Amino acid sequence: MAELRYLIIVLGDQLDLDASAFDGFDASVDAVWMAEVVEESTHVWSSKPRITMFLSAMRHFALALEDAGRPLHYTRMHASHNVGLAAQLEADIVRLKPAGLVMTAPGDWRVLRLIKDTAEANALALDIREDRHFFSSVRDFAAHAKGRKSLRMEYFYREQRKRHQILMDDDQPVGGQWNFDADNRESFGKAGPDAVPAPKRFGPDSVTREAIDFVNDRFADHPGRLEDFAWPVTRTQALESLHAFIRERLPLFGRFQDAMWPDDPWLYHSHLSAALNLKLLNPREVVAAAEAAHRDGVAPLASVEGFIRQILGWREYVRGIYWTQMPGYLERNALDAQHDLPAWYWNGATDMACLRDALTQTLTHGYANHIQRLMVTGLYTLMLGVQPKQVHDWYLAVYVDAVEWVELPNTLGMSQYADGGMMASKPYIATGKYIQRMSPHCKSCRYDPAQKSGDRACPFTTLYWDFLMRHEAMLAKNPRMALQVKNLARISDAEKHAVIERAAAIRAGEVGLTHE
Ligand SMILES: Cc1cc2nc3c(=O)[nH]c(=O)nc-3n(C[C@H](O)[C@H](O)[C@H](O)COP(=O)(O)OP(=O)(O)OC[C@H]3O[C@@H](n4cnc5c(N)ncnc54)[C@H](O)[C@@H]3O)c2cc1C
Ligand code: SF4
Repeated sequence: MAELRYLIIVLGDQLDLDASAFDGFDASVDAVWMAEVVEESTHVWSSKPRITMFLSAMRHFALALEDAGRPLHYTRMHASHNVGLAAQLEADIVRLKPAGLVMTAPGDWRVLRLIKDTAEANALALDIREDRHFFSSVRDFAAHAKGRKSLRMEYFYREQRKRHQILMDDDQPVGGQWNFDADNRESFGKAGPDAVPAPKRFGPDSVTREAIDFVNDRFADHPGRLEDFAWPVTRTQALESLHAFIRERLPLFGRFQDAMWPDDPWLYHSHLSAALNLKLLNPREVVAAAEAAHRDGVAPLASVEGFIRQILGWREYVRGIYWTQMPGYLERNALDAQHDLPAWYWNGATDMACLRDALTQTLTHGYANHIQRLMVTGLYTLMLGVQPKQVHDWYLAVYVDAVEWVELPNTLGMSQYADGGMMASKPYIATGKYIQRMSPHCKSCRYDPAQKSGDRACPFTTLYWDFLMRHEAMLAKNPRMALQVKNLARISDAEKHAVIERAAAIRAGEVGLTHE
């Protein structure tokens, strides 16, 4: 066999035949390296849907590499014997003796460290190339961030729109405004969602079936279920999902972006995050398809702008935050939250209707929409005072789209305010009345969102007032929280005492757990 020039490292979230790592690839002297390692499923207690998503998509990508004629060294996960990512790479370096390593910049700080250390230990050159999947580079974000006191998404997003000429008329936003949030906050009302299109789902083929059987066996004690696994795991399927979304859901995406409905996990969302994060889809093609839908009159501007903002704005912004703030970001705990994550987050066994619904669908599908993540599961842990790292471990474990560069800033920054306001201008706290406005869950719940204390008090409402009291001094300094803090003065001392007592009972696990 000819000497191996470059070993091209491809990670489970780098499944793109056009990635920069393949620039200059020569099948006569180069080869691709991929490995399934248990460590990546156990460093957080990954759910079965998430592990299956990665295994199935990686195995399908291996077939695509074969079709493209690119030699591949692929290690499959075994039921018993397995080594970590670094040890597997090291063993293959010794066996294959490449002259150098090439890869597209990984999404995870931990993985970058690990691969750099392995290359160094083996005295091998490692060529890490820009990840051109994204619209902007980390350097672009760092330049934007330089000298700014706060890093709000909105300003970065407007820069992105101008730089990439997306939804722009020369230097002005199409439609005359940057933001259509005010049009995008409807709930479904009493009647509920009307004829939501059936979601695009893909029944498991033999490759996915095999991955499902393996995961059910090898990771039997991990959270989640696989009976309903039907995610796109190939580029062709991901493109089908994209086109179905643009046609069928995008027109109403904006209007119902923040709404929730019991037992309907899909609604008008795109469900494209996993396909994007594993790089089966390119954000440019997703944004271009949405922009074309507006031009062609398929979807209204408010919906299209709302959708593009998520991808061109939020997705790129959180990546910039991650790479400019790591590794210290992982340790942030601005509110000194020290409580443990309730054990029922891993099985959904709570009597709170909104949380039970969000957790059940999370464990069944590995999916929840943004509002469920931010204003149900995340809101509860924020107000309960759960240690941010434990919250981070949970979000990284349970969703099929979970990769650290996007999950961590959303969890620590947006949802838990653990970065002290770098991302969010205030902690996102709310009583159960917010959930009552956005969904009908409260009607079927044993708790009452209007009550702060007593046996029927909604735990969200109790914890909201408890949070305000616990952090009053800090919150009073924030002009965006002033009104909420002032409302504390309207509550009697006796009521405050009752709230504190009830919050203590919630923390002690005496409230919220279902004993079914
Ligand atoms: C606590 C918390 C944890 C999260 N963890 C993840 C995660 O691990 N992986 C992940 O992809 N998203 C994460 N998000 C962001 C968001 O909730 C998901 O991207 C979205 O719910 C995925 O569903 P969808 O594809 O139907 O999205 P849609 O509502 O259809 O949105 C379209 C796309 O925009 C992007 N997007 C939307 N919101 C965000 C956001 N806040 N940050 C980055 N991209 C965004 C996604 O790629 C998404 O596919 C998290 C949000 C919170 C509050
Ligand atoms: S009453 Fe409270 S716990 Fe119950 S569904 Fe409403 S917000 Fe959730």
